Amino acid sequence: MIRIITMLILLSLLGCQGKMTEDLSSSVTKKVERPAYAIVIHGGAGTILKKNMTPEREAAYRKALMETLDVGEAILKDGGSALDAVEKTIHYMENSPLFNAGKGAVFTHDGTNEMDASIMQGIDQNAGAVGGLHTVKNPISAARAVMEKSEHVLLTSSGAEQFAQEVGLEIVPPSYFYTERRWKSLQRILNDEKTELSEHPEDPLDKKHGTVGCVAMDMQGNIVAGTSTGGMTNKRYNRFGDVPIIGAGTYADNTTCGVSCTGHGEYFIRYAVAHDVHARMLYLKESLAEATDYVVNKTLVEKGGSGGLVSVDKDGNVAMAFNSAGMYRGYARPGERFVGIYQEENTK
Ligand code: ASP
Repeated sequence: MIRIITMLILLSLLGCQGKMTEDLSSSVTKKVERPAYAIVIHGGAGTILKKNMTPEREAAYRKALMETLDVGEAILKDGGSALDAVEKTIHYMENSPLFNAGKGAVFTHDGTNEMDASIMQGIDQNAGAVGGLHTVKNPISAARAVMEKSEHVLLTSSGAEQFAQEVGLEIVPPSYFYTERRWKSLQRILNDEKTELSEHPEDPLDKKHGTVGCVAMDMQGNIVAGTSTGGMTNKRYNRFGDVPIIGAGTYADNTTCGVSCTGHGEYFIRYAVAHDVHARMLYLKESLAEATDYVVNKTLVEKGGSGGLVSVDKDGNVAMAFNSAGMYRGYARPGERFVGIYQEENTK
């Protein structure tokens, strides 16, 4: 008895749940403990090159990524739910003008902001999504409310806004979402008569997809994934990308993994990217590293879809895969932290 109690104390001191698993995400297969929790975030992928970044801008992004992880990790460390961790983590990024979601959302062709978000929990595949919001301060909370307080999965435009208002979410005037940087991006693209994906060497961030996303696994082993975006600059006709489409931009299943994507949404919809990672693990018995690498670096690359994704699997392994020059990203597990921007930085 004393032995068992000592062992339990030791395991909890190690911050582990004592589950022996195969860590196939590293090149060497070894036995590891499942961490007590894991959280991974992205702040968009695209043409993000060191040579085009000022030291100030780079520092601002690294600081924001760190602070974002702080929010989610504090909740998980305290035994909080993955659902709360994902929602609050995404709030932080939505409230920052640095990322293309919430406050920093890009402009449509008509000079408005149309925001999309989705969230899914891996325990029961319950999910909620919203598309085309103009006045909800934190679209990820509207997605959560759809999941928890409605019998639907996806609500859009004025109906979604009415619902958000009825459930008491914070509503702001559309002008809240104005930022000079995003407005200038739209003007430049309009002047050039180019599409939203046009390359602008003078401001490579124009080709960055700045969606934000988070996947977390809590101490109960529940996995939740969430994604929030302003979409693409200069989008028209109430276009939706992958973000509000469950299975395209977001997916979660406790038996495999949770996934949040960023990139050229049309491709992520066509190839059901988030669900495909889950399916490859489930049916082909691939590891998280194998499944994410295949989908991002083979399926998407062959079809011309740029972008990336972040993911946590049921054993607490983390993946951050992208086929673009960079992706704002980071993860935390007990005693472990990483934030990165460029391709050449260590990724898992
Ligand atoms: N996936 C988003 C969309 O197509 C864009 C992004 O990731 O930045 O709307």
